[in-house]
Amino acid sequence: MLPPRCLRCGLLVEQPGTLCVSCWTDVSFVTEPLCGHCGLPFDHDPAPAKADAMTCGACLRSPPPFQRARAVLRYDEASRPLVLSFKHADRTEAAGAFAQWMERAAGELIADCDLIAPVPLHWRRLFARRYNQAALLAQALSLRSGLAGMPDLLVRRRATPSQGRLSADRRRRNVAGAFAVRAGRQEALRGRRLLLVDDVMTTGATVSACARAALAAGARGVDVAVLARAVRS
Ligand SMILES: [Zn+2]
Ligand SMILES: [Zn+2]
Repeated sequence: MLPPRCLRCGLLVEQPGTLCVSCWTDVSFVTEPLCGHCGLPFDHDPAPAKADAMTCGACLRSPPPFQRARAVLRYDEASRPLVLSFKHADRTEAAGAFAQWMERAAGELIADCDLIAPVPLHWRRLFARRYNQAALLAQALSLRSGLAGMPDLLVRRRATPSQGRLSADRRRRNVAGAFAVRAGRQEALRGRRLLLVDDVMTTGATVSACARAALAAGARGVDVAVLARAVRS
């Protein structure tokens, strides 16, 4: 067995699937208080309200189609190498460790859901990248939690241009109608609660489009668990 290494910087560590002390302090974990809907962490405790009653301005203005989203990490300069190494450098062994973190961040959601499915990649991108990191996370989370996994529940009907530099509004239009529930999977989804898994959530446009497709196909509700999320500042 190879000695365990830090998931972010490669330094030798004592336990597999962990970060070294310095990486642990560099990355920001998402902590309460946070928006009960989208999981946005509040920098200041907004009110002495109950944690589950708090809602951010964006969710008040335009409530997302999913009920709750929870993330492990803030997606920033510090966490990017960790998330991207998983995405592109075949660091698939990290999936188990990330799933463990996600299980902690989204424990309540996991307990309430009946099914778990990843945000799908278009097959052309899947071919180029060889694996879908969201699917790896969903699979690892399904294994840990015992939640029934349905890796092929959603399909991407068309390739969407990279979301990279698009505004929130453009992102929303970019992915509108891009996802659908696979023919033959509607029955398994009807009346059930779905936990949708992705690696990174930026504006939430992609998971919202997926949630809309699942709800249109008869899902009772949709929650979202991601490894990292962007935090508007
Ligand atoms: Zn490290
Ligand atoms: Zn919110």
